[in-house]
Amino acid sequence: MKTVDQLLLLNQEWAARKAGEDSAFFTRLAAAQNPHTLWIGCSDSRVSVDTITATEPGEIFVHRNIANLVSSTDFNILSVVEFSVEALKINNIVVCGHENCGGIKAALGGPDHSTFRFVTGWLKNIRDLYRLHRDEIDAIDDDAGRANRLAEISTIEQVNNLSQAYTIQKAWDNGCPLRIYGLMFSLKEGRLRQVFEKFAP
Ligand SMILES: [Zn+2]
Repeated sequence: MKTVDQLLLLNQEWAARKAGEDSAFFTRLAAAQNPHTLWIGCSDSRVSVDTITATEPGEIFVHRNIANLVSSTDFNILSVVEFSVEALKINNIVVCGHENCGGIKAALGGPDHSTFRFVTGWLKNIRDLYRLHRDEIDAIDDDAGRANRLAEISTIEQVNNLSQAYTIQKAWDNGCPLRIYGLMFSLKEGRLRQVFEKFAP
């Protein structure tokens, strides 16, 4: 396990290496950001966007929460989406789910208010999705398969939720070529695959 002191040392090594490889790297980084993609992903430490997409600082604007949910009452994500589209002029939005998601597995297990007062409330929408798709999910005969299918269904649902947000509807009304992609990340293979896509009607 790494301590914060070790993280600080690793950061110094990284900064020195980047400056050595490209002397203007931090000058550009400090000047402005010009990200091409907004990434809405799970907080899970294994799904680290810069690493799995081999991108550099400045390329991807990021919002992460437990189980990569898009809620119409979450001012945090709505603000991130608004700033991405209105200020950063981002036209590619990714909602990324992943295999073996702890949030999805917790939702499959039902509410657990005794341990997770806030997480249990946060995951309600996934429990609702499980109820709506219960026949399909319960027909899968292993726990991992059930969780992975619900993660996929949820990712598609979050793309649909996002597509109904004010900022997105306004962008499409104005002819903006904005697209929202639903991706799934395989932890076993390290690969992303697209499961859904939404664009202007
Ligand atoms: Zn997760």
